[in-house]
This record gives sequence, C-alpha cells and structure tokens, in this order.
Amino acid sequence: MNPFVETLYVLQRCALTHAQTTPGSKASIAELRASVPAPVLAHFDRLIVRDRAGVAEVHHGVCGACHLRLPAAITAVGVNCDDLQMCESCGAYLMFPAEEAAAVPAPAEIRPRRRYRAVAVALA
Ligand SMILES: [Zn+2]
Repeated sequence: MNPFVETLYVLQRCALTHAQTTPGSKASIAELRASVPAPVLAHFDRLIVRDRAGVAEVHHGVCGACHLRLPAAITAVGVNCDDLQMCESCGAYLMFPAEEAAAVPAPAEIRPRRRYRAVAVALA
C-alpha cells in the first residue's frame, strides 16, 4: 500500500472529527500534511472541501466512497504494488485493507495468455 494513503486517511479522519482544536493536534496535522507531496495533497483537499471522501477503503472490489465496482485491473494493481490509485468514478484515493490483499491473487499467480507466448516464441 502506498504510504501516503495511510497519512491521507488519518488526515481525513481528523477533518471529519474536527480534531484541530488543540495546538498539539494542529502541529501533528501540519507535520502529516508536510509529509505528503503537494499535488496529492491538493487533490485530497479539493475533495475534502467539497464534503467528499479523499480516501476510500476498497472492500470486495467496491469503492467505499461511491460504492461502484472498480475495474479488476485497478484492484489487482492497487493491492500488489505501492502506486497511488484513484477511483475513476469519484476521484478518491483508494486504500486497500489487508483482507482485500488476501482476496486478490499476486501477479505471479496470473497465467499469461496463450497469444503472448506465441509471440515470444516467434521472436526467439
Ligand atoms: Zn469511488
């Protein structure tokens, strides 16, 4: 999972609970915000200002923000690599919990299609 997604998820929970009341929490929120790249944080802030989810958990291949089924390719890539994934429908950053990772096979377990093997043999 991308490390920025977990940071953004914490920031989202702080924004939803209005946890910016004490100076200590303001400092920790500022520290978290500084650890996220500016373009990622700008997109996240745009969503939060509009009362939308900036980060959505994925359960059974469904986005937790818009409740639409994600393409299988996005789910497989999101679970198995550290790239930052976004929902194509609502724009929320996708967070893949550990149980979601167990449900999707690793890329090594996916067999290549026969057509690709024939091309590889012809080039060899
Ligand atoms: Zn969505």
